[in-house]
Amino acid sequence: MVKIPSPFTNHLRRWLPFRCFGCGEPGLMLHHGLCPWCRRALPGLQQGCPLCAEPLTVSQLCHQCLRRRPPLAGCQALWLYQQPLQRLIAQMKYPGDAPLTRVMAKAALPLLPPLTADLSLIPIPLHPKRQAERGFNQAQLLCEEWSKALNITTEPLLVRTQDTPHQAGLKAAARRRNLRRAFAVSGEVKGLRLVLVDDVMTTGSTLFAAARVLRAAGAAEVRALVLARTPLDRRTGILG
Ligand SMILES: [Zn+2]
Ligand SMILES: [Zn+2]
Repeated sequence: MVKIPSPFTNHLRRWLPFRCFGCGEPGLMLHHGLCPWCRRALPGLQQGCPLCAEPLTVSQLCHQCLRRRPPLAGCQALWLYQQPLQRLIAQMKYPGDAPLTRVMAKAALPLLPPLTADLSLIPIPLHPKRQAERGFNQAQLLCEEWSKALNITTEPLLVRTQDTPHQAGLKAAARRRNLRRAFAVSGEVKGLRLVLVDDVMTTGSTLFAAARVLRAAGAAEVRALVLARTPLDRRTGILG
C-alpha cells in the first residue's frame, strides 16, 4: 500500500466536511457521526441485573431488587455511564444539540434488544419549562430514531407534572417522595406493553416512578431501555 506523506494527509483532512461528534476530528470513516476510535471507546455493558440493569459479573437479580422489587418487568442499559460517553451525554443536553442525540441513538442501534411490534416506546418526559430551555427532549429523540429503525410506535403517554428538584444527596426514600407526583398519564394505557426510554439511569428512581404511574393506570407491562447506566460505585451527584 502506498503511504501518503502525513503533511499531505493533514492538508486533505482539513478539507473533509465531516467531523466526529466525539473527538471533533475530521474524517471520512464516520459511521452515523462517530469515528471508529470513538465508537470503540464507548464503554459496553456486558451483563446486568435483568430488572434494573445494575452492572454485574453474572446475570442475576441484584441485592437491591431482591430487597425491593422494582415496578419494571425488565430493564436494559446499552452502555456504562463512563467516559467518553459521560461527556457525550452531557453534551447531548446542551440547548440546541439535538443532532448529537440522534447520532447516539443511531450508534446504539446494533445494541438494541429485540423489540416486537406490540411494544410501544414511551420517552421519559421533561417538565415543559426544562424542555423549553433545551429546545428538545433527548429521550423523545431517542424514541423517534429507534421507532423509525425498528418500525415500532412511540406513544407520548406520560407528562411531567412537577419540575423535580435535583436529587443529589437525597436518600432512596426521599427520592421516591420527591418523584411521587412527578408524572401523570396523558392517554389510554390499559393493557399496553410499554418500554420507557431515557438517556441515563442513575438510581432508577425516575424510571420506577414513571413505571408505577403507568402500572396504576392499567398498563399490562412496563420495561425500560436506557442509553447508559451509572454503576453503584459512581453514584454521586444523584439525578435519578
Ligand atoms: Zn472521534
Ligand atoms: Zn437490580
